[in-house]
Amino acid sequence: MTVGPQRIVIVGGGTAGWMSAAALARLLPSRVSLQLIESEQIGTVGVGEATIPHIRYFNALLGIDEREFIHATQATYKLAIEFVGWGRETSRYLHPFSAFGGDIDGIDFHHYWLRTRDEWPELNLDAFSLAAQAARLGRFAPPPEHSEFGYGYAFHLDASRYAGYLRAYAEQRGVTRTEGRIQSVIPRESDGGVAALTLESGERIEGDLFIDCSGFRSLLLGQTLGVPFNSWKHWLPCDRAVAIASGALSEPPSFTRSTATTTGWQWRIPLQERTGNGQVYDSRSISDDEACAQLIGSLNGAPQSDPNLIRFEAGARARSWDKNVIAIGLSSGFLEPLESTSIYLIQMAVFKLVEFFHNSKSGAVGREAFNRWMSLEYERVRDFIILHYHLNQREDSEFWQDCAHMSVPEGLQRKIALFKESATIEFYDQGLFAPPSWLAVYLGQGLNPEAIDPRVAQQPVASLKGPLEQLANHLNRTAQALPLHREVLARGGVAPS
Ligand code: FAD
Repeated sequence: MTVGPQRIVIVGGGTAGWMSAAALARLLPSRVSLQLIESEQIGTVGVGEATIPHIRYFNALLGIDEREFIHATQATYKLAIEFVGWGRETSRYLHPFSAFGGDIDGIDFHHYWLRTRDEWPELNLDAFSLAAQAARLGRFAPPPEHSEFGYGYAFHLDASRYAGYLRAYAEQRGVTRTEGRIQSVIPRESDGGVAALTLESGERIEGDLFIDCSGFRSLLLGQTLGVPFNSWKHWLPCDRAVAIASGALSEPPSFTRSTATTTGWQWRIPLQERTGNGQVYDSRSISDDEACAQLIGSLNGAPQSDPNLIRFEAGARARSWDKNVIAIGLSSGFLEPLESTSIYLIQMAVFKLVEFFHNSKSGAVGREAFNRWMSLEYERVRDFIILHYHLNQREDSEFWQDCAHMSVPEGLQRKIALFKESATIEFYDQGLFAPPSWLAVYLGQGLNPEAIDPRVAQQPVASLKGPLEQLANHLNRTAQALPLHREVLARGGVAPS
C-alpha cells in the first residue's frame, strides 16, 4: 500500500528550508520527490549563528563529517553561554553544556555546594563543570569518554555557509531547486489546503505536502491558511535586533557571550573569519539609531558589515501543521536567540515530521501529535527565556524593573517557587532544558533557595569542604591540560570521540 504524500514542496531556502530539504532527502523513502523554491531577490534573514549540542546529532544522522562541516561553515566550538549583567549589572555566569559536580548518595550536587557556599564563597559553581572551566580558559577538546564529568558541545557557524553546504548535500540526493518568487497560492478544493504555487515567471508547481520555510512572512501557514499567531510580547517585550559583523578575535572564546544592556541585550558570536554581533531591544525604550550606536560602541574593532535591522515579535502560530502545510523555522514562530534555540526547533520539527508523516494516510493523527509536540517545545523554550528576564535585580532601567515585576506563565512560576523554597528543580523527561541548565540560570541570576535537602543540611560544612575542594582542583587541572581553542581550530578541528 502506498501511503503518505509523494510530492513535497519546500518554500524557502534559508536555514530552515535547506535543513528540511537535506534531512528529508536523507530520511524519507526514495519514492518521495522533493522540490525547494527560493528567491534570491527576497533573500534570507541573514542571522542565526549560535547552536546547542543537538546540532551534532542532526549532522551525524545526515552522515556529515564534523571536521568537513567545521571547515565548510567556518565554525568554532561552543561549550557554554556566558551571561554578563543579567542578574545585577556586575554579575557574570556561565550556562555550560554540562552538569555541575555529580550526584552524591543520590542527592543532586548543588545541595552540597549550597551547604558550603556561605563559608566558602570563593569557589563558584563553575568550578564544578569541566566544560565551564575549559570555556573560561579558552580551551576546547571533545568530552572524555566514560567520564562522569562529560559535557556536550555545539558550534558557532556561518549560517549562510551552512545553508549552502546543506543545499549541495540535498541536491546530490535528488532535491530540485527552483529559483523564483512565489506570486500566488492556489487552494486545494477538497479542504482549502494548498494545491499549487505559481511563480512570477508563470511556472506552476503542484504538490501533495508543502513545507513553509518562508521565514517571518509565513507565506503559506500564516498568510494563506490564516493560522493565528499567538503573541508572547507581554512576557518577551524585545521586538527588534540589529546585527553587525566585526573582525575575528585572535583568541576566539569557546562560548557565546550575552551581555545585558538597559533595554535588552547584545550577543557576541566568534567565528573563524569574523565575529557576529547583535543587539536585541525593546523599540519602545530605545530608537534603532541609538541601539545601533550602542552596538557599534561595544564592538572589538571596526564594523565589517552594514547594520542588518530585523523586526520581530515573540510568539508562535497556534498550529505548525494545518491541512497539508507544515511550517518550519521562523514561519512557525520566533523566540529571541538568548539560548540559541531556533536551529534546534527547526531540527525537532523535521525529525517529528519524519516520525509522524509517512505511515499516515489521512495525516490527522500525525498532524495532531506534531502540533502538540511543537507547541510544547516552543512553550518550554519560551519559559526558559522568560526566566532570564524575570529573575533580575537590576535597578538601572524601567525595562528591567518591568521584567522583574511581570507575572509569568503559571508553570514557570511554580518552578521558580519550588527552587526558591527547597532548591529542587522540576524537570521534563524529554526536550529542553535539563536540570543543570535551570540551575545555572537560577543561581546565576541570583535566586537563592531558602532551604536545601535536609539530609545535606545536617552535614557539617567541614566534612564537605575537603572533597569539594579536591573535585574543583581536579577539574581545573584537567581543563588546564586541554588544548587552546585557537590551536584546535588552526588544526581544522578534532574528530569527535
Ligand atoms: P529565512 O532565513 O528568512 O528564509 C526564508 C526563505 O523563504 C528565503 O529563502 C526566502 O527567499 C524565501 N521566501 C520567502 N518568501 C518567498 C516567496 N514569496 N517566494 C519565494 N521564496 C520566498 N537561531 C539560532 O539557532 N541561533 C542564533 O544565534 C540565532 N540568532 C538569531 C538572531 C536574530 C536577530 C533572529 C531574528 C533570528 C536568530 N535565529 C537564531 C533564528 C534563525 O536565524 C532562524 O531560525 C533561521 O535562520 C531560519 O530562518 P528561516 O529559514 O525560517 O527564514
